[in-house]
Amino acid sequence: MPAPPRPAPSAGSARPSPRRKRRLGNAAAAHGGALAGSRRCELCGAAGRLRCGRCRLTYYCDVDHQKADWVSIHERICQLLIPIRTSLPFLLSEKERKHGTEQLVKRQKYIIDLTYSTAQEFVSEGKHKEAIPAALHALRFSTEVYGSNSVQLVPAYLLLAEASTGVGHLPEASKYLSQAQWIVLRTPDCSVALQCKLHRSLGLFYAAEGNFEQALYHLANDIYLASSTFGLKSIETSGGYFHMANVFFRQNKMDIANSLYTEVTDIWHAFLVKSVQAQEQILNSQPEMSPFTEDKEVREDRMTEAQQAEAIRVLNAVLDVREQAPKQQPGETARVLHALAMLYYLSMDLSKAREVGTKAFDLLKQLPRHDSLEAIGHLLKLINSKPSYTK
Ligand SMILES: [Zn+2]
Ligand SMILES: [Zn+2]
Repeated sequence: MPAPPRPAPSAGSARPSPRRKRRLGNAAAAHGGALAGSRRCELCGAAGRLRCGRCRLTYYCDVDHQKADWVSIHERICQLLIPIRTSLPFLLSEKERKHGTEQLVKRQKYIIDLTYSTAQEFVSEGKHKEAIPAALHALRFSTEVYGSNSVQLVPAYLLLAEASTGVGHLPEASKYLSQAQWIVLRTPDCSVALQCKLHRSLGLFYAAEGNFEQALYHLANDIYLASSTFGLKSIETSGGYFHMANVFFRQNKMDIANSLYTEVTDIWHAFLVKSVQAQEQILNSQPEMSPFTEDKEVREDRMTEAQQAEAIRVLNAVLDVREQAPKQQPGETARVLHALAMLYYLSMDLSKAREVGTKAFDLLKQLPRHDSLEAIGHLLKLINSKPSYTK
């Protein structure tokens, strides 16, 4: 990644006065502190003393904030901001102005997608600090396009809450969550998926705060809403079970934690068995095709990237719990390994699939008799029938 461009001093830059270090993402910044034309720091909304030397339209209070923004998102949007932040010339016809406005909204929506997905990626990699500037931009552009009370802002608020929790800024996280909660409460037709997301975020926040009672309350709401819409055994519901299990685990309530982890494993296991079967059927009907051919029919059966990422995170966490349990339950451990092997197989990571599949097979071989042994043997055959490249 190239270094940020040398900052160009902004016109009329005053001598920096001593001040307290401002934290990213205060309300001023989130709500238009750095709108077009204003010389406010892109991140904190303080007076802008430096200017990005490339777009020449973006200001920062200091080098730290410029660097933080560059690493998180500015490198990717620097040039995209130019048409957005340059105002339309006067003397345009009505038609041209209308076209200009439509173009602007299109560009803003593109930036919302880009900033949100970038922030999401940082968060799922555990890089919470890097996620914050990108998530702030997602919120800011969503506010510009949809208005400050729109339900479209909720995903950005939740992502900011998660990233803030990740860096230990709990008061900020709490503020973002309140905003999201307030919007959801005022939106009667808010989707169940979004309500679940809100309850899950609240649950995770209270768990981070150590307020287990509130955490369990919100996770129970998440599970109730998800199961009544998607089904008790759906992967949408399994996320709530998983986080609830983690809370019980931290409370040292191992019986209930264990049974919830088993539930989570079973849901993913069943889902993955079906996915592998679906792919096998396609392969059998079109033997000349590679399993990973970019065929439309095959793609529709595939898990989404977000589902894959969640499954990998959840199943590896459950595997850790199983492997570190004082009392080993090889059957349970093998079941998680089997699910992971299917998951890696489906996501084309064949060497990992082989590794965990073999581990599951060896574990089960030592047990008196196990029905899954055959299923894992079959999966290993599938894995080994593919050329052993990995992505
Ligand atoms: Zn700043
Ligand atoms: Zn720039």
